[in-house]
Amino acid sequence: CGIVGYIGYREAYPIVIKGLKRLEYRGYDSAGVMLYDGENLKISKTKGKVVDLEERASKEISINGTIGMGHTRWATHGVPNDVNSHPHLSNSGNLAIIHNGIIENYAPLKVELMKRGYIFHSDTDTEVLVNLIEEVQKKEKLKLGKAVQIALNQVVGAYAIAVFDRNNPDEIVAARLGSPLAIGVGEGEYFIASDASPFIEYTSNAIYLEDGEMAIIRLHKAMKVRKIKDDSLVDPYIQELQM
Ligand code: GLU
Repeated sequence: CGIVGYIGYREAYPIVIKGLKRLEYRGYDSAGVMLYDGENLKISKTKGKVVDLEERASKEISINGTIGMGHTRWATHGVPNDVNSHPHLSNSGNLAIIHNGIIENYAPLKVELMKRGYIFHSDTDTEVLVNLIEEVQKKEKLKLGKAVQIALNQVVGAYAIAVFDRNNPDEIVAARLGSPLAIGVGEGEYFIASDASPFIEYTSNAIYLEDGEMAIIRLHKAMKVRKIKDDSLVDPYIQELQM
């Protein structure tokens, strides 16, 4: 399973696809991609290999956009099929998430959200998390980063996630607990990935998030890293990668 994200000035699709291929060694049963082109949020996903995703995406969506997220799934909750593949959207259609790991307490959270009118299209634990983030964000009128943080504090499990909000489209929020997540820091661009291999050719500056940390990644701004538990700011260590 793997995660790739890009926010910057280049076309995101080739970076994401190539990155997913580099992460194939981690194993997976499905793959998916999200692209944002300044107007449209586009998702294509499928059971199968990254090459199957490429074939499908080229028919299903226009593959342009300078913000993108890609995912390879190793199913834990819900069989491997197209619908259970990531990215998953929140009910409003505004939030998109990719997730590696397991949300152990997804069942009670799902019941609670269903009581509040949320509808679920997949059998995944991940779709519960994205709707929990949406519910927190809506109820308290919060920015994405804060909503992700509050939601993650209600979650038991393991995760590497990246979340995108089309209402605030120059930002990706990433977080990890138990699953790896690296962030590549370029000039006017950021990369997110399960390891540095998807972005090593673009930048040699990497930040490896520690367990329990989240990153608020904004275009043309310095990245902020916080502890999920208590919101404290972390001074991230930028590692120089050997190209
Ligand atoms: N638990 C999630 C799912 O089953 C994510 C699996 C993964 O790590 O790829 O969809």
